[in-house]
Amino acid sequence: MITTHSLGFPRIGAKRELKFALEAYWKGQSSLDTLKQVGADLRQQHWQLQSALDWVPVGDFAFYDQVLDMSFTLGNLPARVHDFHGDPLDNYFRVARGRSAASADDHAQCCGGVAAGEMTKWFDTNYHYIVPEFTAETRFTLDASRLLAQWAEAKALGVQAKPVIIGPVTYLAIGKAKDASDKLALLPQLLQVYSELLEALAAQGVEWVQIDEPILVTELEATWQHAFNLAYQQLKSSRVKILLATYFGPLVDNQYLAANLPVAGWHVDAINARHEIVPLLAMLPAHKVLSLGVINGRNIWKTDLNATLDWLAPIAERLRDRLWLAPSCSLLHVPVDLESEQTLDGEVKSWLAFAKQKLDELQTLAVALSQGREAVKDQLASNQAAITARRHSPRVNNPAVKTALEKITPQLGERQHGYAARAAKQAALLQLPKYPTTTIGSFPQTAEIRQARSQFKAGTLSIDGYQAAMKAEITRSVREQESLDLDVLVHGEAERNDMVEYFGEQLEGYAFSQFGWVQSYGSRCVKPPILFGDISRPKAMTVAWIQYAQSLTSKPMKGMLTGPVTILNWSFVRDDQTRAVSCYQLALAIREEVLDLEKAGIHIIQIDEAALREGLPLRKSEWKQYLQWAVEAFRITANGVADETQIHTHMCYSEFNDIIAAIADMDADVITIETSRSDMELLDAFDDFNYPNEIGPGVYDIHSPNIPTEQHIVQLMQKAAERVPAERLWVNPDCGLKTRQWSEVIPALRNMVAAAKALRANA
Ligand code: GLN
Ligand code: ZN
Repeated sequence: MITTHSLGFPRIGAKRELKFALEAYWKGQSSLDTLKQVGADLRQQHWQLQSALDWVPVGDFAFYDQVLDMSFTLGNLPARVHDFHGDPLDNYFRVARGRSAASADDHAQCCGGVAAGEMTKWFDTNYHYIVPEFTAETRFTLDASRLLAQWAEAKALGVQAKPVIIGPVTYLAIGKAKDASDKLALLPQLLQVYSELLEALAAQGVEWVQIDEPILVTELEATWQHAFNLAYQQLKSSRVKILLATYFGPLVDNQYLAANLPVAGWHVDAINARHEIVPLLAMLPAHKVLSLGVINGRNIWKTDLNATLDWLAPIAERLRDRLWLAPSCSLLHVPVDLESEQTLDGEVKSWLAFAKQKLDELQTLAVALSQGREAVKDQLASNQAAITARRHSPRVNNPAVKTALEKITPQLGERQHGYAARAAKQAALLQLPKYPTTTIGSFPQTAEIRQARSQFKAGTLSIDGYQAAMKAEITRSVREQESLDLDVLVHGEAERNDMVEYFGEQLEGYAFSQFGWVQSYGSRCVKPPILFGDISRPKAMTVAWIQYAQSLTSKPMKGMLTGPVTILNWSFVRDDQTRAVSCYQLALAIREEVLDLEKAGIHIIQIDEAALREGLPLRKSEWKQYLQWAVEAFRITANGVADETQIHTHMCYSEFNDIIAAIADMDADVITIETSRSDMELLDAFDDFNYPNEIGPGVYDIHSPNIPTEQHIVQLMQKAAERVPAERLWVNPDCGLKTRQWSEVIPALRNMVAAAKALRANA
């Protein structure tokens, strides 16, 4: 018999029920009890959906974030929230989201004024967790109430449940020492609380506990490897059986360590670490359960079940009862149910599997292995038909695109001349003042814009009506920018719902789901477009809008595009070719758009690469290769233009130290970045590197409604000028303004332009 289980299930709900319940509660439109009930209902539904499994996960549900849940379980709350009065769930939201002293509730005075916890990416996914905070004074105390309550719920439902927790070493590793103390010094104390937790679970009759240690797939220093031995030596005396879970990549040099930790079972990602599995069978102690993650928990494609069975059969033969099967990681990273999709292209839909379908696949594999393929021959036949159809579909394979890719030469990524020569020609053509002012692209997405778009999508507004509405918005943006006296204008992106979806909708090879939501953080979800086929651009995507905007002004209008790396990193991508190949295809398509904009008389073109950094592999040793193709893809996109055409790029994050060489290699004439909150210190990375091209360090934080003063902007730019020669500085906000109101944007930009003028006057 093969045991099946899952590591976690998406908790947001097939129709984002949790999101809506959370937001209603936060707005004061519903009660805490209502919210808790929605949570309980979702847990119940999700256990029922998974009830065919031998073990369903418990504790994977979180109202905001599973890492924050773990911090509460361990009693590790930042000191600033210790003195809370009221429901613990409110305190939990206080850590997650912060709470202002001015909020309109009973505890505004005593419990307000709390900053939100820092958020960061969960490994290489697009999920963001609340970073645990540590200091030398941190003391852990167990609060098992959440886990025990959910365990009791699952038992009452009659499912066989397996609590899921984050392991002690990963928990420490992904947290932050606020006082720069040694986090590992906290390990003995932390292990004490983990032992108590396992004991509390054992006392309830828990048999297996899944302990997630994904940090094992990253490069670990010896002290951290040693911490693993310490930790699991101590936890081995507990009365529960531990299933150690590793996922998101191969183990590489941590293989031997992981295989020999004293635990009852080990889950390995057999998608990303496939090549490691057979060799590690020999390493595995003879009593240990091996759980293989054979269904990809990170993408939305059907599994090739026959191929998987061919690979699995000899392993199953060898391990027998010791083999467990599961998705590669928690299904948190995929949407819930493909069946909800009504409008998705039928052919593409037949190639896909969301969380629920992935569990069906798992079941089919388990039955085939224990009873023979005959027992599931219909399922296998229809799966095979879908796999074969996708492989041979002309929608997936476009020979012209493949040929174009083969023809890529290094010259395609080369500008005519180096930066210095280009800069001189651009200066002569553009005649910009010193400290030129610009914005990052979007202006407020007003209620009118959103309304027009939803009416257009619903068919109640004609295409002409919609275009007229968008043109009116563009006109408004241009007028506002002219009266603000900005130097380089933008059209404002009124017609764009989203910077990736907008392009995906116009490219061949992309499909869109209706309900393919994946949690990004808290109640926030993203609906990544599905890149399924070879990418081509049937016609120009942005030229008409930009040309229209340019026709309204004599100032230079900046064309606005999303770059290939960002489009790739924010999509569900193909599993039948490398990310690099998909990225080059996108690059060739966007390159055509760049050239069309240039032909249409646009002299400045911005290519956003907001997600370039996000694509960095988990292991530093793989960064170089990623950056090599990512930068090359950008260069192919951007560099077909004449010297006179000025290429801008934009990146909204604040860590450049370790990728500065790659950023310089991109060779954009101008890069705009987020810097205002770092007080320009992040420019040190550019300074130290002698970054050669122009830089627009953001001078105000667009996430905040605060209006920056002229004086503050002048000071920031003076700091910038200490690091980058003034001749190469631009003045702009940190990022796009689409989430702001016009009433905030106008005074902020007015001060920004005034600051630039003051700087010029003093120069
Ligand atoms: N051009 C985009 C905008 O202004 C850039 C957004 C981003 O980098 N996230 O909205
Ligand atoms: Zn940005």
